[in-house]
Amino acid sequence: MSEYMLSKDYFVQVIRDLIVLAEDRKEYFTDLDSAIGDGDHGINLSIGFREVNKNIEDWKGLSVRDFYNKVGTALLDKVGGSSGPLYGSFFMKFGLPIKTKGPDEGATFEEFIAMMEKGVEIIKKRGKSTTGEKTMLDTFVPAVETLRKEYEGGTLAKEAMEKAVEAGKAGLESTRNIVATKGRAMRLGERAIGHLDPGAASAAEILEVFYKDMPN
Ligand code: ADP
Ligand code: MG
Repeated sequence: MSEYMLSKDYFVQVIRDLIVLAEDRKEYFTDLDSAIGDGDHGINLSIGFREVNKNIEDWKGLSVRDFYNKVGTALLDKVGGSSGPLYGSFFMKFGLPIKTKGPDEGATFEEFIAMMEKGVEIIKKRGKSTTGEKTMLDTFVPAVETLRKEYEGGTLAKEAMEKAVEAGKAGLESTRNIVATKGRAMRLGERAIGHLDPGAASAAEILEVFYKDMPN
């Protein structure tokens, strides 16, 4: 059996689909943020991914590493608010664990796991945050931990990612019962209880795109 690979096209397609996601879900993410933040999360993602959309044709010939670095830089430069720098850093560092650097080369699934871990590590570092604080990390951390555990336990690649997405969604649900200790929702204290964290919600949908675009 040949090794499961993620092609260069896969990595470009994910970004194309995230551009669509940011438009389709703009209102939803903004509504979530209106409840416990300042109501701009969907707008922020839309601004960022519109900038990516403007440039994607120019960037798609780059290596995965450089392509994602451009995507992340655009989010970081164009988006105000905390999610711009956090998602920006995630994508900027995402391609670093890929060993091959050719413009047409993709990644092994092992590398993909390392990429996800790298991205999450940077969010923690930049945000000075961890799980249980009602942020996107409540989605990302369990998802990425599950991804590694499942794959190392022998689960097939795409199935391991499916389990990761499920773990991320459970993490998202858990944010309802958490009082925020990071981000704007902090100011609400107990009043944030009962509400999903907007960044955790967008993270869950982003991970789902990475899953759905994977070849069977
Ligand atoms: P802002 O909070 O500046 O208005 P957004 O509304 O776009 O920016 O994004 C808010 C989301 O960013 C939150 O729901 C949360 O998931 C995430 N977030 C905020 N601060 C942090 C942090 N320090 N670490 C991780 N995620 C954070
Ligand atoms: Mg906001």
